[in-house]
Amino acid sequence: MKVLKFGGTSVGSPVRMKKLLDIINPHERQIVVLSAVSGTTNNLVEIAQAYLEGDKAKAAGLIQNLRQKYEIFINELFSAPEFLEQGKEVIDHHFGLLTNLSNDLFTSIEEKLILAQGELISTTLYHIYLKEIGVPSVLLAALDFMKIDEDNEPIVDHITEHIEPLLSAHPDINLFITQGYICRNAFGEVDNLRRGGSDYTASLIGAAIRSEEVQIWTDIDGMHNNDPRIVNGTKPIAQLSFDEAAELAYFGAKILHPQSVFPAQKYKIPVRLLNTMDPKAPGTLITNDSEKDKIKSIAAKDGITAIKVQSSRMLLAHGFLRRLFEVFERYKTSIDLITTSEVAVSLTIDDTTYLDQIIQELNSFGSVDIDKDQTIICVVGDFGAEKHGYAARVLEALKHIPLRMISYGGSDHNLSLLLNTADKTEALRSLHNRLF
Ligand code: ADP
Ligand code: ASP
Ligand code: MG
Repeated sequence: MKVLKFGGTSVGSPVRMKKLLDIINPHERQIVVLSAVSGTTNNLVEIAQAYLEGDKAKAAGLIQNLRQKYEIFINELFSAPEFLEQGKEVIDHHFGLLTNLSNDLFTSIEEKLILAQGELISTTLYHIYLKEIGVPSVLLAALDFMKIDEDNEPIVDHITEHIEPLLSAHPDINLFITQGYICRNAFGEVDNLRRGGSDYTASLIGAAIRSEEVQIWTDIDGMHNNDPRIVNGTKPIAQLSFDEAAELAYFGAKILHPQSVFPAQKYKIPVRLLNTMDPKAPGTLITNDSEKDKIKSIAAKDGITAIKVQSSRMLLAHGFLRRLFEVFERYKTSIDLITTSEVAVSLTIDDTTYLDQIIQELNSFGSVDIDKDQTIICVVGDFGAEKHGYAARVLEALKHIPLRMISYGGSDHNLSLLLNTADKTEALRSLHNRLF
């Protein structure tokens, strides 16, 4: 059984929604994961923000604008009055919920409930559309099986245990539709897998049912060899290993949610990145295999803060790094890059929630310097030590740009650099010209 995920633009208009059946084969048993209609989750974030600020009038205005978009949407999606009526009920229900939240105390619980409405609406509307055109399908409520634990880690066994009976209950149905992104947390509340999380949903379901393949359908023909939003002339990559894809996703390739590769990797489930606008294009196949002798792709991640700790006590002192890392551990702040010398350590973080507390603790180790507005550039490919010359080419391409950190040798397939965000565009373009 395959899992197919369609992103926001792939369900972004009634025309696009109707075209999904060019791709989905209703004669094959499969699970279809849908994102919210493109733009909706951003709008929901704004609505939640208005509520958080206590600005109910602003929230009401934003809700009204979004509702109008959906009223137009359902008028184009449905033909028969009976189904249009059902569509209207869906809109009434979900927008009623958004409006009614204004009466209550607004906490992160309500915020997450708001963010969940996009996927709930898109899947329900699509399910009604399939009914209208006579294609049998079952709408599975992701909130009945997608679960994360206290550390926000998805629980694959829970998903398996709860989704299998839902699938077995419908032996004659081929098409199962469900929501990406949303889940329940350890307290049973509605939660989510972070922005872009529908990819993660697809991979988690793929892992949970030991799917034969996960397909991520989006608005581009696969993972490109550089960020197509910044660099001209980027090209799709035919094949990536799980490790390479994970690295690119983590370091900024927006086409994949940062964690989405891991569940598929664990159960060796091939992942294909495909283009809904061009379904025949080969896209990118992600498997266990890695191609030798190639630089594959470049990605960039902004919003990075670099921390340098200089300490003469590091000299000869074992246990120094452990104590240093424990500071980050205490504040649940993960470290991306590390470089060390005998007297100093530099590292980067992207979550600065506890930066002040971290700095305060680090001050007891030695002098601490902070650089904000940094970008990690990650070059992925076969960097095995015997492939001499590749690292030199990377540095050569960046010789006119100040580099804050260089991390090489952590794995055989990655070279990462830290530089000022202001230099990112030039760095990506220069690397592209030199490497491809
Ligand atoms: P979806 O809504 O389908 O999940 P996303 O917007 O999340 O789509 O991801 C697709 C977008 O990712 C593309 O339109 C492209 O602009 C962007 N992107 C960034 N880096 C890359 C890359 N290396 N390869 C392909 N797409 C990329
Ligand atoms: N709708 C969610 C978002 O915009 C999840 C997703 O599209 O993957 O972040
Ligand atoms: Mg996405």
